[in-house]
Amino acid sequence: MFKYKKKTVEVLDEVVCDVCGCSTKIDEKAGVCEYAELRADWGYYSDGLDGESHRIHFCQKCYEKMLKLLKIAVVNIRISDSFEELTRFLKKEKNKIVSDAQQVLQKGKRKNAKN
Ligand SMILES: [Zn+2]
Repeated sequence: MFKYKKKTVEVLDEVVCDVCGCSTKIDEKAGVCEYAELRADWGYYSDGLDGESHRIHFCQKCYEKMLKLLKIAVVNIRISDSFEELTRFLKKEKNKIVSDAQQVLQKGKRKNAKN
């Protein structure tokens, strides 16, 4: 025989934007929130933040403002994207960075050759 008792359980109701304070809930009935989260877990080698964990939640507007402010290019990777696609993207970015670095080195060599 099973015996039951009533319990009160806390569930996540909504996520509030830590920047503007608005709710990120977009569907009251389903309780769906759309938000971004910045998460940082600082370790022993950090500069004064040893052991601290930070969680910052953004509504879409504040998230987009932050991206513009930080001039971060968003890499849009869908959950369904395969590992191969991600690997191809990272290789392409790596090649671009290497190419840029080689150009900088070449310019430096030309400048040194003139002097
Ligand atoms: Zn906000």
